[in-house]
Amino acid sequence: MKAAVLPALDTPLETQELEIAAPGPGEVRVKVVASGVCHSDLSIQNGTIPQPTPIVLGHEGAGIVEEVGEGVTKVQPGDHVVLSFVPACGECYMCRHGQPYVCEQANATAGGGLLDGTTRLSRDGSPVFQMAALGTFGPYAIVPEISMVKIDDDVPLEVAALIGCGVLTGVGAALNTADVQEGDSVVVIGCGGVGLNVIQGAKIAGASRIIAVDRFDSKLEMAKDFGATDTINAGETDAVMAVMGLTEGRGADVAFEVIGLGPTIEQAINATRKGGEVVLVGVPRMDVMVNLPAAFTWLYLAKTIKGCWYGSSNVYEDVPKLLDLWKKGELKLEELISKEITVEDINEAFADMQAGTVARSVIQHSH
Ligand SMILES: [Zn+2]
Ligand SMILES: [Zn+2]
Repeated sequence: MKAAVLPALDTPLETQELEIAAPGPGEVRVKVVASGVCHSDLSIQNGTIPQPTPIVLGHEGAGIVEEVGEGVTKVQPGDHVVLSFVPACGECYMCRHGQPYVCEQANATAGGGLLDGTTRLSRDGSPVFQMAALGTFGPYAIVPEISMVKIDDDVPLEVAALIGCGVLTGVGAALNTADVQEGDSVVVIGCGGVGLNVIQGAKIAGASRIIAVDRFDSKLEMAKDFGATDTINAGETDAVMAVMGLTEGRGADVAFEVIGLGPTIEQAINATRKGGEVVLVGVPRMDVMVNLPAAFTWLYLAKTIKGCWYGSSNVYEDVPKLLDLWKKGELKLEELISKEITVEDINEAFADMQAGTVARSVIQHSH
């Protein structure tokens, strides 16, 4: 099969012919129909997220089960599935404590392989890794049974694909991680694919004022379409002062940082009111440190700072819940798709993402 491979750090992706093995016990062969292109794919290319290479990127996908390995019970051939970039076993300490988004099985997949640490992809006999035990930039993938959620056949798979990362993460940040109340003021710093979903999640949660902050006017325009009531171009204005001006000098009830930079994390904390909540969603480089005054962050100002991984989601519950919201017209999914592309266009899609001109490019695989 032909897949988009990152051959080495800081190099363009290449479409290469790969061999794919049969599914092992507990594994499933999925025909990947569609894959979103997410900022985290770019973050592996540029080293923000360290991963071994060569690797097939892509972690936001949906497809159809083709073949199941020994002992697989959750799905069968023909099932339509949304792929999950965090396996959720349901049995480990974290899963039993209601935090499947930090399932202990994910420790094994962090090195570019499946649950046993090895990959099912190779090129001329050498292993090729799979991002997040998936690798949705290829038309087929062997993935763990616990990395997918069965969905109804009538959901278009290019729409379903987006749920796998951007929507679960962004909407989940607002509905699961944060405690957004009816009538709250919310600020969202960073309006890429995930940020737009935080915005629509905050709207679903009942926030009455949703302040979008970005440096690209193109993204701020998209933010308005997804529910932002106010926009601030941080390249032109001091974002914290502008948020204060919109919230009677208090700061927002809840602030979301969706970029992953030290200065924007500090901005989110400073734009939050006393007693308010800060949710960190963006993916920082490993060396990003944040220095905070302990007294005037936590004690006197009583702020809560929460980390958000995968929207604090339980994928087995949240994927159907999000699809219900979509069916009721409360969640925008088609509107997130700015461009439909083929796998050969992947480097252009990365450039578009960096230029801030797209919410999502979605790869339609040919088989
Ligand atoms: Zn992602
Ligand atoms: Zn688990």
